[in-house]
Amino acid sequence: GLVPVATLAAHRGHEIEQISRQSQAAAHLVEVTETGFDLVRFALEQAEGHPSVRHVLTVGGPGGADGAGGPGIARTTALERLGSDLSPSEVQDRIAAAQRTVGPDDLAALQLSGGTTGVPKLIPRRHAEYWYNAVAYAQRLGLGPDSRVAHLIPVIHNAGITCAVHAAAAVGACLVLGTPDAMASAELLGRERADVALIGHGHFQALANPAFLQRASSLTSLILSGTKVPVELFDDLERRGLWAGQLFGMAEGLFCLSRRDDPREARLLSVGTAISELDEIRLLEPGTEHPVASGEVGELCCRGPYTIPGYYDAEQQNAVAFTADGFYRTGDLARWETIGGEPHLLVEGRIKDVINRGGEKINAEEIELLLLQHPSIEQAAVVSMPDARLGEKTCAYVVVSSPVDLAAVQQHFAEREVAKFKWPERVEQVAELPRTKVGKIDKKRLRDDIAAVVADQA
Ligand code: AMP
Repeated sequence: GLVPVATLAAHRGHEIEQISRQSQAAAHLVEVTETGFDLVRFALEQAEGHPSVRHVLTVGGPGGADGAGGPGIARTTALERLGSDLSPSEVQDRIAAAQRTVGPDDLAALQLSGGTTGVPKLIPRRHAEYWYNAVAYAQRLGLGPDSRVAHLIPVIHNAGITCAVHAAAAVGACLVLGTPDAMASAELLGRERADVALIGHGHFQALANPAFLQRASSLTSLILSGTKVPVELFDDLERRGLWAGQLFGMAEGLFCLSRRDDPREARLLSVGTAISELDEIRLLEPGTEHPVASGEVGELCCRGPYTIPGYYDAEQQNAVAFTADGFYRTGDLARWETIGGEPHLLVEGRIKDVINRGGEKINAEEIELLLLQHPSIEQAAVVSMPDARLGEKTCAYVVVSSPVDLAAVQQHFAEREVAKFKWPERVEQVAELPRTKVGKIDKKRLRDDIAAVVADQA
């Protein structure tokens, strides 16, 4: 009956502080790490003076023992020991009793939105619809008890829960959980005879490395996700006798996915079609409720059995994030193209101001507001810059009163306890920020500028 709030181990005070208060978290679950950042100490510090956190739970501690607490929380509780004083039948009874209190429309998890505003938004996913999302995904791919489903990206993300944990469990498939270390995972995939894997943009390069597929030689199907698929990669996979398709998905709900029998061109160019016949898709002129003309690019808006009707406790944001009749405005651009006689969805960019760093979404406004807290930064605009491995990285354009280099900006972010993946990875000082005719910062121009610079330096 617990509701997980899907934060990342990479999150720091800047993120956890806001999210744990917004969700009124009762406990903070962290891993005990031998080296690097001390997550247990961090959780205890975060719990200090917190209005709702009552427990710090740990996994992976030595001997699974409870640990020392801090001000406010007497002891940390080792997850491994929970229930160790109960017999198996008592454990089963407790689980059954807890499950009886959970209804199909109760909260199953709070996911985090990649969102467009400086404040993180929580995505309420509910038991029946979240499970259905995974069942529909598994059915579209024809997964079953003989399937061995591999996953290399963090499992707490929506794709991890839906495509890996729930999808495999829903059809009795075996789940093979790798890590982002592609080569180490390839070894595991081969050994455990994984046959299907979801591959995010961050692993496209690894996939192009022949050694990866040699090690993971049991793979027969790959689902590619996160960005347009390079034709060379697709061709290469086909030459090796692999089936490749595409997935477009989001924590807010809608999944589009290739069908097994889609023609090659459809699987290469498009993200297929929605996985449920109950999904409804509209392509609207951005900022309006007018559908675009047939075949034109418009903002992808969706409604359906597993797409949220609203963010958690966010009335103001819901007013702009949904159309009057409840279609979620994704901020992605898409168009329909008829391929093999059937309409398929092509993703054509986005209008939301986020950077997609290897699948981790970074909100530009959030980073700009943090930059503006630096005493020497007067104006800031954050844009994506191309990166061969991660797809995109964050570049900050700044107007300054005294010089600020990358090290100073990163120090500023460290002091504010911002998750490292959000730190700008390049800083460009400019005399002024370019503006569009209506006076808005011309981010397209900045993106084009930095892409040219990166290409020159490559
Ligand atoms: P998340 O909620 O973190 O899973 O992110 C969902 C967002 O990722 C979407 O709204 C898109 O902007 C992006 N995305 C997911 N799949 C694709 C894809 N196949 N092609 C392009 N963008 C994608």
